[in-house]
Amino acid sequence: MFKNSLRLGKILDVEIRLDYSWFIIFALITGSLVQYFISREMNITTSLVIGIFTSLLFFASVLAHELSHSFVARTEGVPVHSITLFIFGGVAHIAQEPKRARDEFFMALAGPATSVAIAILFGVIWFVTSNLSEPIAALASWLGIINGMLAVFNLIPGFPLDGGRVLRSIIWGITGNLRKSTQVASIVGRAVAYIFIFIGIWRIFFQKDWLGGLWIAFIGWFLENAAANSYRQVALRDTLAGHTAREVMVTDCTYVLPHLTLEELVHDYILHTGRRCFPVTDEESVLGIVTLHNVKEIPKERWHSTTVSAIMTPLEKLQTVHPDDGLFDVLERMTHEDVNQLPVIDYGKLVGMVARDNVLAFIHTRTELGI
Ligand SMILES: [Zn+2]
Repeated sequence: MFKNSLRLGKILDVEIRLDYSWFIIFALITGSLVQYFISREMNITTSLVIGIFTSLLFFASVLAHELSHSFVARTEGVPVHSITLFIFGGVAHIAQEPKRARDEFFMALAGPATSVAIAILFGVIWFVTSNLSEPIAALASWLGIINGMLAVFNLIPGFPLDGGRVLRSIIWGITGNLRKSTQVASIVGRAVAYIFIFIGIWRIFFQKDWLGGLWIAFIGWFLENAAANSYRQVALRDTLAGHTAREVMVTDCTYVLPHLTLEELVHDYILHTGRRCFPVTDEESVLGIVTLHNVKEIPKERWHSTTVSAIMTPLEKLQTVHPDDGLFDVLERMTHEDVNQLPVIDYGKLVGMVARDNVLAFIHTRTELGI
């Protein structure tokens, strides 16, 4: 969902991005703030300026919350690529799961702790300015309350919310089983999500609060998806843990020669073997690989005149893996590079190919056998 986002810049080496859905919530919040300030008898221009300013400070607060997760993660040796702000708040893209329960505990708690600190700060500003400046006091009280709510919402003990991560880290610390603790925390997460959906629907049908109800139900739906996906991800990592590319790679690759035409490649190799990817070799070394995908990009009428060497991906441009690379990493790399197979290279030599299908078959067999 974050493919459509704007890059804002970097804060201490963490890339900050804005998803386009952010503009919807920015407009909604600014709109309701302006209404709120007008209702407190401020003039329209002041309301508009204070409204926009408050909205921006609110997003700065969300950003501070995410940055605190990122900084704690980094001090624990877990790299953070970027933070994306979107319609429901923010998300820090942390490269891997924490290695120890206590690391996760502190990383998860950092965000809500920051939100509480910001809430207190605005509470103090409100207290000091309440008799001095009505607009600033109104801004401070709204930001104090919203940051407090942000902390409370994130502390709901359902994974992948911060509170769910705290719960997971506690169970993980006690049992030593990451997969089981993720499962428990995600079940709580999904239960919370269904409660949100239920409350949302209730408000729509029994209180005729269309917008509020839809909003709550939508958050519930989002949480449900996130909880289910995060669990699947952890289960997948668990299934693949300790297994390497060597176990699933295909070693009896069918090699093709660079001067072969695409017509020959299709008829004599692709249709004949049912394979989709072939290493190209000049009988001494591997020059690159040619895939069904490469062939499909060339119109059929040019197949007899185009050679394999003209369309192959040369070795130096290929992402490769080592036979001892972990399978989870291999799968992540395929997803990241948007490819379905990767060549396996050992001591500069092609020793096999690993395809997404091989990894999926491996997972399927293990899941079926329950191991
Ligand atoms: Zn958080």
